[in-house]
Amino acid sequence: MQTKKKLKHKFNYVCSECAKEFKITPQLMVCPDCYVHQTSEIPLKGILEVNINKNNSSRSTPSLKKIDIFDLLPIEKKFFPEIPVGNTPLLTLPNLRNKLNFKNLFIKDDTRNPTASFKDRASYLVAAEAIKYKIPNIVVASTGNAASSMAGIGAASAINITIFLPRSAPIAKIVQSLQYGAQVVSVDGNYDKAYDLSMEYVASRGGLSRNTGYNPLTIEGKKTVSLEIARDLEEVPDYVFVPTGDGVILSGVYKGFRDLFDLKYTKKIPTIVCVQAEGSNAITRAFRSMDGHFDFKSSSTIADSISVDIPRCGILALKNLMKYKGECVTVSDDAIIAAQKELSSSSGVFAEPAAATAFAGFLKMKDLLEKKAKIVLLMTGNGLKDTAAALKGVISPTKHISSISEIE
Ligand SMILES: *Cc1c(COP(=O)(O)O)cnc(C)c1O
Repeated sequence: MQTKKKLKHKFNYVCSECAKEFKITPQLMVCPDCYVHQTSEIPLKGILEVNINKNNSSRSTPSLKKIDIFDLLPIEKKFFPEIPVGNTPLLTLPNLRNKLNFKNLFIKDDTRNPTASFKDRASYLVAAEAIKYKIPNIVVASTGNAASSMAGIGAASAINITIFLPRSAPIAKIVQSLQYGAQVVSVDGNYDKAYDLSMEYVASRGGLSRNTGYNPLTIEGKKTVSLEIARDLEEVPDYVFVPTGDGVILSGVYKGFRDLFDLKYTKKIPTIVCVQAEGSNAITRAFRSMDGHFDFKSSSTIADSISVDIPRCGILALKNLMKYKGECVTVSDDAIIAAQKELSSSSGVFAEPAAATAFAGFLKMKDLLEKKAKIVLLMTGNGLKDTAAALKGVISPTKHISSISEIE
């Protein structure tokens, strides 16, 4: 295989609020002009997005089918660690299609990433950033998946990883992080508290922050899912259902489809459906409010990966939803648990509650959708990451036999 030495296009950062442009460097995380307005209890101000300035010597746009995803990323391919992130299957779900009568329903199965969650897409690009700029330490706060992901990708690339986790994080995600050799800091508080402490840590001890939304390459890394979906379908789907907490996956999904549109690979942006748990629905509340205001409310849901009080990427997520006429739907914890079981037993995809939320959102909305619409559900994390939650959706055997005559 030939490794590409140089970037194909030129890249820079652009502020998602004031549109000011900046050079890409690991020293710059947010727009300094907009970030001065940052206060606690509001989403991040001045989130930067990567802008692609298409190299004019490559005048013709190749077909979607032949798209090289590394060409559309701002770090050279040679800096990425050797671990197989992305290129996950787009499943066609014969059982589920028959059962629900949706002939063009797909699952993008990101449970199959190396650390079993979608977060690997962001960690992969951030690791490449650290390697390119020779930064030996990465620091991240997480509800669990970003941590175990960064720990795993860090282990594949000899980067030291320090993670800040709420003490309530599911045990499997903690064990994963420890197994990968990360320094695990357990925080007496929720994810928002872990986030604040990790920011303080980077400010005083140094290292590259992989905090979601704050490091712009987290959004950029997550866009690869859209590039793969469009490449594999050879067109843009009608709907993509995205389980949403901080809104970084949602913003990354939009970013990928926007890049394809801007580079003239595609002609439309799909309808993105932001699916949230009823007990953690900050972006939905802002979307439904008249003035797009983010009010503060403590979150509580069984879907731990999307349980956030303050959605870090809320402002950008809302802007995308408004501009491209996305939709929001919320589902109850009971609906999430039921959807998880339904999905596992009719597709073989065992997803963690946060991921099953996308399926629950689809089930809630399906009567409003055209039966022939091309619909993609993002499955963002593996069910084995939180077996305690999954246990709530099944009945485990209570009787233990010693002879088959005891089986009813
Ligand atoms: C992080 C995560 C999400 C939500 O992503 P946000 O960027 O926080 O909206 C959804 N599902 C799983 C499994 C996750 O780990």
